[in-house]
Order: sequence, then C-alpha cells, then structure tokens
Amino acid sequence: MLKFKLITILLIVSTILVYAQKDKGVMSMSEFGLPKKRPIIRIPGFDGYQTLKCDFHLHTIFSDGQVWPTIRVQEAWQEGIDVIAITDHIEYTPHAKDVMVDHNRAYEIAEGMAAENNIILIKGNEITRSTPPGHFNAIFIGDSKGYIADSDKSKDKQAVRKAADQHAFIFWNHPGWKVNSIEGSYEWIDLVDELFKEKVLGGIEVFNGFGFHKKALDWCIDNKLTVMGSTDMHNIVGYSYNFGEGVHRTMTLVLAKERTAASVREALEEGRTVAWSTKYLAGKEELVSKLFYSSVEVHPSFYEKKGKEKSTNFYELKNNSDLYFEMQLKSGKGTQNITLYPQSSQIISAPAGEEKLTYEVVTAFVRSDKNLLVDIQLK
Ligand SMILES: [Zn+2]
Ligand SMILES: [Zn+2]
Repeated sequence: MLKFKLITILLIVSTILVYAQKDKGVMSMSEFGLPKKRPIIRIPGFDGYQTLKCDFHLHTIFSDGQVWPTIRVQEAWQEGIDVIAITDHIEYTPHAKDVMVDHNRAYEIAEGMAAENNIILIKGNEITRSTPPGHFNAIFIGDSKGYIADSDKSKDKQAVRKAADQHAFIFWNHPGWKVNSIEGSYEWIDLVDELFKEKVLGGIEVFNGFGFHKKALDWCIDNKLTVMGSTDMHNIVGYSYNFGEGVHRTMTLVLAKERTAASVREALEEGRTVAWSTKYLAGKEELVSKLFYSSVEVHPSFYEKKGKEKSTNFYELKNNSDLYFEMQLKSGKGTQNITLYPQSSQIISAPAGEEKLTYEVVTAFVRSDKNLLVDIQLK
C-alpha cells in the first residue's frame, strides 16, 4: 500500500515537473482566440453552375479605406467569400501624404495571401468621376498605371475607356448615391447611354452596402446588364455588419461553371448573377426563381386533420440554403404568410384537394416594383 502511494506521489510530481519544463513558465490560453475555421455559405447552384459568393468593390488605405490589403483577404476567408476585388479610387487618394500613390500595390500586396487561402482575387480600381455619372468599377484590369487621375468632366469618357482598352469588366457604381443632393444624378444620362451602346458598360451595382438602388435593377433588366451587389467597404467588414444569425455582407452571387477567375469573368459577361444582401435578393426573374426552387423543397402531406366539412392537410417546407424567403400568399387557399429562415423548415397547411399555392416572395426583387412569384405544388 505504501509502495503504491509512493508511486502515485512520484507520478504526480514528475507530471508537474514535465509540464513545468514543457511550457517554460508560460501557459497558453489560446482557447479564447477565434477558432481558425471558414464558414460555408450554402447556396445551391443549378443548370450545371455553382454559386460563388463575390464582393467586387472594396477599398484599402491605397485610396480612402482604413485597412491594409491583406485584411480584405482574411475577412473573405473568415466569412466564406470566394471572390474579391480591391477597387481603390484612381482619382481620390486622401492618404497620399502617408501612403505612396501606386494603384497596382493593393493587388500586389494581397495576391500571395489570396492564393494561399484559395480566395480568388480580381484586380480592379474604381474610376471616380464627379456625379453624374459618378463612379465606375473596372475589374479584370491590366496595369493600373496610366489611368486618368484628372477629374475634369471633359475626361469622363476617356477615363472609363482606359479600362475598356484593357478589356476590363466595367460596372456603374451606386447610381443613386447623390439622389438627395445632386438633381438629375440618378438618371440614365447620355454618357451612360453611350458607354452602354459601345458595350463598355457591363453591369450596374444594384445593392451597394445597405442601399438598394431600385432604378438600377430596372436598367439592368431592360438592357440585359449584369446585376451587381457589393459592400463598397472602407472600414473592416465586421465593424459594419451585424454578423450573427444569418447575416452576411452584401455580395454578388455568381453562377459560374467552375471556381476560377475565368469562369467568374464569363458569368459576369453572360449576366449570370444575383445581388444578395442577407434577407434580400435582386436579379433577373429566371435566375432568382431558379435560386428559390433549388433551395426549397416541399414534402408530401404528413398529416390530414379531419374536419366537419373538409379536412386540412399539413406539409413541411424545407429551405436547404442560407438564403431567406419571406412569402405572402397570392392565390390558392392555405397558410397566408411564411418566413423561411436560412437552413430551416416551416409547416404550412391547406384544405384537402388544394393542388398548389402561389406566393409572392416579398424579399426577392425581379424589378423595382415586382417580386418573385413561386408555386408550391401540394400534389
Ligand atoms: Zn464609389
Ligand atoms: Zn467605392
């Protein structure tokens, strides 16, 4: 017995000694640090395309942003974003006294980290003309040197053309951002029309940060332009977005053949995008509709409640995506309002014999004044 006690004491003492030696007097408390993990944003693809989560409008200290370029890559990784573009202003560099003006640098600095973290980094800049027309993002650009930094109105078109000469994909940013201060600034002005007709303009930002530029959606639909959504983030994304249950940054969902820069480019040119801002979707009806039907499934009635005259059937509606759908009944008899939260299900009911219910998805816009209509097949 004494021998056993001695052995136990010896074991405890030696364990303490080993540990004391191991940590050299410093104990790690890393369990309070953020776990290194990347969330997966689940949004199904369709027609052979996968849905990539993209933010093509970001700033750094190389223009008027608050952060170093690699922070944009870390944020993207931490939030489950696939593709980013850093698009610092060409004509506006308020940190110039502290940071050398070189419009190639943000991309060059972030490039290595992006590659190592499997984030697709697209080279870009924001062509920042006075409003109207305002700002244009050029992505998939070449050398940023030689862009026109002179803000003179007479050079607006030439400034945008410079990006077109590099075969960039160009979209018009936040067209309604000065609607309250500059009259006529939120219109399809001649310069925009010219750029559109000359096939220089490829898309328009419909969602910019927390703003939905409704007219931009109609312009996209009517002119077959690509619908864009982005943060236009200047500060740290996590300072601005209330990340938590179901909240994501504003972004463009790109339906791409592959998870490559080339496929992203092809999809942007083909207009295969939907703008997404947590609760809200905006885009071409066909694409928004396919996103809905690939996310939501209806199960056959699991229960029939007998009534005096008619019985009621109960169904389960399942949302397999991280999208959010708020729905109001438009035709048929059944549950009036449904909120389909991300990755969750709801119970709906309808009188026996009802074949389908048609809902308006009030959080999904296919025009400024039109929401997506969906059929829920009960039989
Ligand atoms: Zn801008
Ligand atoms: Zn911007």
